[in-house]
Amino acid sequence: MRSTKLSLVLRQLRDGGPRSRARLATDLGLTRSSASALVGELEELGLVRAAGVERGGLGRPGTAVELDGHRVCGIGAEINVNHVATMALDLAGDVVAEHRAPIDSTRLAVSAVLDLLAELVEQTDADVRAGGGQTVGCVVGVAGLLDRTHEVLTVGPNLGWKDVPVGAELRGRLGAAYPVTIENEANLAAVAEAVPGDASRQDILVIFGEVGMGGGIVAGGRLLRGHQGYAGEFGHMIVEPGGRRCGCGRVGCWETVAALRPLLDAAADPDDPIRDPALALDERLAEINRRADLGDNRTLAALDQVGSWVGIGAAMLTNALNPAAIVLSGYFAEIGHHMRPAIQEQLLAGVLAPQGGGTRVEFSTLGFTAAVRGGATEALESVFDDPTTVAPRPDVLLGGAR
Ligand SMILES: [Zn+2]
Repeated sequence: MRSTKLSLVLRQLRDGGPRSRARLATDLGLTRSSASALVGELEELGLVRAAGVERGGLGRPGTAVELDGHRVCGIGAEINVNHVATMALDLAGDVVAEHRAPIDSTRLAVSAVLDLLAELVEQTDADVRAGGGQTVGCVVGVAGLLDRTHEVLTVGPNLGWKDVPVGAELRGRLGAAYPVTIENEANLAAVAEAVPGDASRQDILVIFGEVGMGGGIVAGGRLLRGHQGYAGEFGHMIVEPGGRRCGCGRVGCWETVAALRPLLDAAADPDDPIRDPALALDERLAEINRRADLGDNRTLAALDQVGSWVGIGAAMLTNALNPAAIVLSGYFAEIGHHMRPAIQEQLLAGVLAPQGGGTRVEFSTLGFTAAVRGGATEALESVFDDPTTVAPRPDVLLGGAR
């Protein structure tokens, strides 16, 4: 009961921003003294503080309170075909640490990739502790189908992984100082895009394109995982029967025509550096942008062709779900602006509702950090769910002992 009320106050400060105790009382239908007591408890846990404390307004009635980011952090991590990465976010949503290492997962042993990721997570946790914070959890995004009950990556077609117990493997490497859980990386990218408090971002589809294509559905601000957790596998909608063979073994999946590979294949010859997996992906994408900006015909035709396929799939999804926005993430975020006219054209042509059902096409501004940001956000959810899981501030403990 108590933790539920503390949770409500904490979420209200996250979603609504800094506000006075009186305003919190009104927002949440609490008495003023109850709101003050709850804020006091959250202050002792080091989760909220007086806003504008530097101006000396501490503790005065009517003073606004805000989330205090100093105390706890969530870590997001990602195992991707091209890189492993981590990010720590504090409770206020600010980035505390970030690490990324490019890899070619198709050439590295599974254990080597897991070792490298564990190293990055440990480094990130050390950064958090160096700043006086505490890691409350780590959520790891993996590219592929997950058996969530057993935390096993059933199949990661593009990683080339099969039946890897990622959860247990990582816990074996990281110990038990904080909980480590795994999640589909596209679901995490979707979580990152559903900005708390932004009403236009509570019903969205996120389409994450890279070597493969995944997606996530956020409905009413909550991640929609489906019956067995496999929702959002948009990349394997069959859009071209009789078309190209997909990494999953089927033919004509959306990702065979709209992911990064078909774009690169259409845009350049095999010996072109933009098709060299040994080079950093962001540099290759920057080169595609440069060529498109210079008006290179082959590049523009490739972007137009792939953009049309993106629009065809987006129209199917809009007919089914009519989200407020389809947020294109991953490689789309870097070069998708060159595809926008083709996407928009197919979306309007393919959606039954007038004006494409009002569904907006947007590009992620989070880029390749979307999945790690979403993982860190998910890790922090445990604190928003139950703030009492956090130990009181050390100075409060000392004060209590005297
Ligand atoms: Zn497929």
